[in-house]
Amino acid sequence: MAKLDIYQFPTRSDNYGVLIHDPETGATAAIDAPEAEPIKAALAQKGWTLTDILVTHHHADHTAGIDALKKKTGCTVTGPAREAGLIPGLDVEVKEGDTVEIGNAKGHVIETPGHTRGHVSYFFPEEGAVFVGDTLFSVGCGKLLEGDAPTMWTSLSKLAVLPAETEVYCGHEYTNANCRFALTIEPENEALQARAAEVAENAANGAPSLPTTIGQELATNPFLRASSPEIQQRLGLEGQPLDVVFGEVRKRKDRF
Ligand code: ZN
Ligand code: FE
Repeated sequence: MAKLDIYQFPTRSDNYGVLIHDPETGATAAIDAPEAEPIKAALAQKGWTLTDILVTHHHADHTAGIDALKKKTGCTVTGPAREAGLIPGLDVEVKEGDTVEIGNAKGHVIETPGHTRGHVSYFFPEEGAVFVGDTLFSVGCGKLLEGDAPTMWTSLSKLAVLPAETEVYCGHEYTNANCRFALTIEPENEALQARAAEVAENAANGAPSLPTTIGQELATNPFLRASSPEIQQRLGLEGQPLDVVFGEVRKRKDRF
């Protein structure tokens, strides 16, 4: 049974780079490639050789390092078929239900459009980890740049049903600001209050708030909590469809 080593490190202004490594075979994948140098440095630090890049979506802060890394290592670049043409160096196009293999570890491709039209997430069930790019953040979610609220709600709902203990690796460290917004939407939520306090302390110490877990997000993330009576009441949307409630939370965040 494969057990991946997972190494997360900060890059760019607020992105995370993530490397996943199968010790049995030596296979190593970068989740996205925000920029080449910090990823090369992380590989050198770990003594790992890059074999793959798993791309979540086409934005430059997730793809800018691909060309240089591919040139240096000859790695295989896997990413969403629906964004082929927008992702440099794409070798393998994947869609919903496809499997990616990093050594002996198997990841399932989950299409999670909304932030971009073709955004995908990679779920490794045996590792208990999911890599969600800019779809889900801790106590937040991606902006709806290429999709509407129902589309993003459907995507978030696919992530919400993963096992509660699943570790969630996100593209950005936005949690502290996300908590300040979330407390305006659901101020009575005690799990959220506790998370906000913890994250503020982490931020003051420069410590990451990630990975999070699906269970923690279900308890604290207003973008997953459209069914919360407090949220519905605060927004004046009692009994409305959940994607409508979600859409209103997203709109308020955009204006926050
Ligand atoms: Zn993005
Ligand atoms: Fe991003």
